[in-house]
Amino acid sequence: MKEKIGCCCYDNQTIFLDQAIKQLNLNADQKQLLLQSFREVSVQIPLKVEHGDKEIIRTFTGYRVQHNHARGPFKGGLRFHPNVQIDEIRALAQLMTWKTALVDIPFGGAKGGISVDPSTLSQQELETLTRRFVQKMEPVLGVNEDIPAPDVNTNPQVMAWIFDEYSKTNGNVPGIVTGKPLELGGLKGRLEATGYGVAYITSLALEQMNMALKGAKIVIQGFGNVGSYAALRLQAMGAHIVGISDKDGGLFHPQGIDIVAAAKFAQETGGLKGFFGGEKISNEKLLALPCDVLIPAALEGTINCDTEEKVQAQLIVEAANMPITHMADEKLRKRGIIIIPDILANAGGVIASYFEWVQNIQRFDWERNVVQTRMEEHLARAYEKTSSLAKQADVDLRTAAYQVSVSRVLRAIELRGF
Ligand code: NAD
Repeated sequence: MKEKIGCCCYDNQTIFLDQAIKQLNLNADQKQLLLQSFREVSVQIPLKVEHGDKEIIRTFTGYRVQHNHARGPFKGGLRFHPNVQIDEIRALAQLMTWKTALVDIPFGGAKGGISVDPSTLSQQELETLTRRFVQKMEPVLGVNEDIPAPDVNTNPQVMAWIFDEYSKTNGNVPGIVTGKPLELGGLKGRLEATGYGVAYITSLALEQMNMALKGAKIVIQGFGNVGSYAALRLQAMGAHIVGISDKDGGLFHPQGIDIVAAAKFAQETGGLKGFFGGEKISNEKLLALPCDVLIPAALEGTINCDTEEKVQAQLIVEAANMPITHMADEKLRKRGIIIIPDILANAGGVIASYFEWVQNIQRFDWERNVVQTRMEEHLARAYEKTSSLAKQADVDLRTAAYQVSVSRVLRAIELRGF
């Protein structure tokens, strides 16, 4: 069967879910209950933008999909990317439901985004676009309803605009959004939490595989928030980051790239283009590099049937959401490659977001070391639960992780009685 890539996130998601549903012997009604979104909102946002020496009006589409809130308010990121469309957001919203359930925090799942290439807008235009998105979505957001967070191409500044716009009509409500700047009620350690969590989960997986993290060769695809902080942490833990990349291409250095220098360069220039810390390679070649661990930290579907067979790593840690298509997933597992699923690997971010939300509600500051320790405790419990179920039921880690999450969500639905 030829694999469809790009617009098939939801199909992938359904297939992964199906495997867990089979293990749990659920019926068709229960499956339908788990698949359907609670609410899907799309809005049109007209914006005056500069076009050469004149102004034109462009209209952007924004989405918020709220998948399930049986276990708590909807929670999930907001991404700005030209490929954003309803199928992708729907799949990512569902993924959030399973992620929050797996790490056992009191949230459901949601996701949102605007179909826009933010690099084509000025800072002022981006701010106006964000504020108009909030104005139109305001009725479905709320500190006990739905709490957005950063994702691809959104950052603490975007979260600050969301907080400000929402607060105009709702009073000062910092808990309406997480991933805010520290000055506005942000959490110490939230910015790096997803990447640091990826590094922690990588260390747990390597330990279980009897492989040393110190000296391990690691390749990371994507050098944004998640990829760069994962790289910084893993290098500090003694690993050699032999390959990194962003949308413009990759770099390879067999002895390990200087990640501190690369991160500083990317922060100052917006990317890795022009950084000379290794041999320049394509993104395709990056995935084929000899290494112990491969960490996809960019977008969905980058490891697919076209790229899967070149992967040489023994362990793949899904820092991005849905980076492996279901067909590639099956082939990789048949080759004995261990895959740590996204809902476990990158859950550090949403755990820290939960702490930020609690901090905002209590109006009480959390210290960085407390955030880090508590995040690792949540991750360690989820890792242990997933890996022991995988062993006991003789299933892969993704199926086991979904089994844990789906059971918890179903139980909450049953208890609440809707
Ligand atoms: P980001 O926008 O900060 O970074 C994305 C990076 O990927 C950039 O370096 C970009 O250049 C690169 N990239 C884009 N297309 C690429 C391609 N085709 N090949 C190689 N690199 C490419 O985004 P982020 O917040 O780091 O998110 C990355 C992934 O992690 C996404 O899947 C996101 O959903 C997931 N995630 C993010 C968080 C979070 O807290 N930010 C939490 C959980 C999961």
